[in-house]
Amino acid sequence: MADTLISEDAAEERDELSALERISCHVHRRWAHECISSPVHVIVVTGHRWCRRCEAEAFVAVDEVSGSVDVVCTRCREAPGTAATRQIIRTCRASLAAAFGREQARVPAA
Ligand SMILES: [Zn+2]
Ligand SMILES: [Zn+2]
Repeated sequence: MADTLISEDAAEERDELSALERISCHVHRRWAHECISSPVHVIVVTGHRWCRRCEAEAFVAVDEVSGSVDVVCTRCREAPGTAATRQIIRTCRASLAAAFGREQARVPAA
């Protein structure tokens, strides 16, 4: 964890990595999937954890066993169909995989 955090901090400083593409969180110093539920990670402007249609917060359901990540609006119960939602799913899956090692994080065939 510490290694990833340090290397992502450095990459972000060099403008090589977007803060939103990180799999470790600079604010909480944890894996992205562990603190994505924090209010800090609602970004209305970009649509991160935000449903524009309802103007409501969305929550992220992370299943550490299956490695699945879902973003669901608290009002309409649908996933906001935005690039930001896809980015959250991508980074949380990647952080899950990094946290548990590739073997366990592999998506089951079923
Ligand atoms: Zn965080
Ligand atoms: Zn909604």
